[in-house]
Amino acid sequence: MPAKIIMTSSDIERSLNRIALEIVEHNPRLSELSIIGVHTGGVFLAQRLKERIEATEPDSSLPFGTLDITLYRDDWSLISQNPVVKKSEIGFLMEERRVILVDDVLFTGRTIRAALDAIMDYGRPLAIQLAVLVDRGGRELPIQPDYVGMSVSASPGERVDVLLAESGQGDRVQLSGP
Ligand code: 5GP
Ligand code: MG
Repeated sequence: MPAKIIMTSSDIERSLNRIALEIVEHNPRLSELSIIGVHTGGVFLAQRLKERIEATEPDSSLPFGTLDITLYRDDWSLISQNPVVKKSEIGFLMEERRVILVDDVLFTGRTIRAALDAIMDYGRPLAIQLAVLVDRGGRELPIQPDYVGMSVSASPGERVDVLLAESGQGDRVQLSGP
């Protein structure tokens, strides 16, 4: 099956604008907010959301962190093994913070489960909310996103390619066959 584009760059732009507004709507005290991106794609998206959220209130600045989590899954069709947190860079105090956790694609939920553990090793945040660009279904754990760019039910053998300008590929999301 040839790759099918499911989000264009303007779709991604609109989704991120909407998600940023939803985050502000649900978390009116921006001074409590912080944002953490999950390695590569999620970090780029988290950075974009941070800029959009900060643009809604003068002089606001959201603390920013990253988590690098490896799945050791060399084929999307394989059942995932346990994700391992390779590196975390969270240079702010978790207490009294609402954390927006950001990833590009949500699939089984195992990466997010590992991310939640890693975040809570730093302290006890007021809340953690999840934002993803694409929810591809296929959950194996009771984890759901609070903010979603697009939901697509991809079959286990399909792959969602999230191409982002930050890695020099232009912005688009496509669905590829096995
Ligand atoms: P999960 O742990 O929920 O099974 O998978 C989520 C993690 O694996 C995310 O960090 C995401 O980047 C990556 N992932 C899972 N499925 C896909 C996919 O189809 N495409 C891409 N680009 N990443 C995926
Ligand atoms: Mg990832």
